[in-house]
Amino acid sequence: MSEHTLTINGEGIAGTASFDVIDPSTGEVFATAPETSAEQLDDAFAAAQRAFKTSWRKDEDGRRALMHKAADALDASADQIAAVLTTEHGKPLAESAFEVHGGAMWLRYCADLDLPREVLKDNENEYAEAVRRPIGPVAAISPWNYPIYISLAKIAQALRPGNTVVLKPSPFTPLSSLAMGEVLRGVLPAGVLNVVSGGNELGALMTQHPLARKITFTGSIATGKRIAAAAASDLKRMTLELGGNDPVIVLDDADVEAVATKVYATAFANNGQTCIAPKRVYVAEALKPALVEALAERARATRIGVGTDPETEQGPQNNLPQYKRVTELVADALAHGAKAAAGGGPIDRPGYFFAPTILTDLPEHTRIEDEEQFGPALPVIGYRTVDEALERANNTTFGLGASVWGTNIDRATAVAEQMEAGQVWTNTHNAIDPSFPFAGQKWSSIGVEGGHWGIESFTEVQLQYRAK
Ligand code: NAD
Repeated sequence: MSEHTLTINGEGIAGTASFDVIDPSTGEVFATAPETSAEQLDDAFAAAQRAFKTSWRKDEDGRRALMHKAADALDASADQIAAVLTTEHGKPLAESAFEVHGGAMWLRYCADLDLPREVLKDNENEYAEAVRRPIGPVAAISPWNYPIYISLAKIAQALRPGNTVVLKPSPFTPLSSLAMGEVLRGVLPAGVLNVVSGGNELGALMTQHPLARKITFTGSIATGKRIAAAAASDLKRMTLELGGNDPVIVLDDADVEAVATKVYATAFANNGQTCIAPKRVYVAEALKPALVEALAERARATRIGVGTDPETEQGPQNNLPQYKRVTELVADALAHGAKAAAGGGPIDRPGYFFAPTILTDLPEHTRIEDEEQFGPALPVIGYRTVDEALERANNTTFGLGASVWGTNIDRATAVAEQMEAGQVWTNTHNAIDPSFPFAGQKWSSIGVEGGHWGIESFTEVQLQYRAK
């Protein structure tokens, strides 16, 4: 039996079955999670629909106040949720706590954002304004890499204009979201937030559910395409935040040590499993040996261990498929002539631990350059001209994040302007904020999260016109 419960219509409900949750530090089952049946999913959407139609969408001030209360409750429970998250995910405790507080920040930001009515005409004959209306029950589907942060960003943006939510976390990390549901159950009115758990089939049922009017999804491109197809038959609105393969261009005037410190920190945070992590580095040939060595030094010094040990800087990969994926891509690169300046394979111990790896001397179009490794392995590739670097950086169907590094800011900015990505940073990577637009170009997203753009995507525009 699982000790965790689903949240449906404001109540803690047991699943009709259960599924195993693995501790990635050991590779062993450590808990079970409740499995949501199709009937329970119907109950969750019915509850979301009731809450939407009756009270939630009608009381804007009440919503704002309750979102603040929800943020306070999460901050107060951060250690408890973080402990669950670290055990099921493997990330260091401090990173788990950051997720909970970061999610609370999203609730506060969205609660405080205004959605003003826009007056279009006001003259002696007519008055016209554009008004933002909520859409209805939202199906929110999250990945395993930042389960709490990503789910709360979705919840905050959906709730603010008056939608209600049915949330499903990844089957690899269900328990922290269920714990979050238990905390928020005490704050939000029944039906406003329902948390279900189950496998990919449950996600598919959500995207086909007749009461779901909007889908907000973060995960892989392959699943995003399936969801877009499922949404089409009912013309559900959707926001899809998908995979990335972020390029980094290091110009020949860059400060190598400063670049190495920031690129290493952002590429290997969260055990290398971040959508907007640097995933391939293009560096001017003259700087390549120094940058490879500076990154390798940091990789060799990284303290590997279980997430619950406060000394740990890098934990295990979250799950077996991901562990196999990074293992396969690094082995493929080495088989094609790449060299490992640090790491190069799994660590010989129980669980899904992979050595922080810096690869160099890759032939062009090695799989780890073209595909998303989503793990602690970073290829560093030399270039001769900036045009060549831009061509290789942009020659992809991904377009999530990108960065350019150099001491001449005008020159670096001019290169940044040519990057094909939803967010482009100069002399940093992965700078995000609830007020910034977060999106990808090409296959990396449909729609935008963050700022007024994100909240507006959880609304329909309505014209209110009065003849005078
Ligand atoms: P995934 O696509 O395998 O799973 C994500 C979620 O979708 C899970 O909850 C899963 O159960 C559910 N799901 C699977 N099949 C489904 C279907 N047919 N219909 C509905 N739901 C379904 O992704 P993942 O492995 O959990 O996450 C890793 C990926 O997420 C990486 O590609 C990463 O880059 C991406 N990601 C993107 C962002 C972003 O903001 N762009 C952020 C984090 C992660």
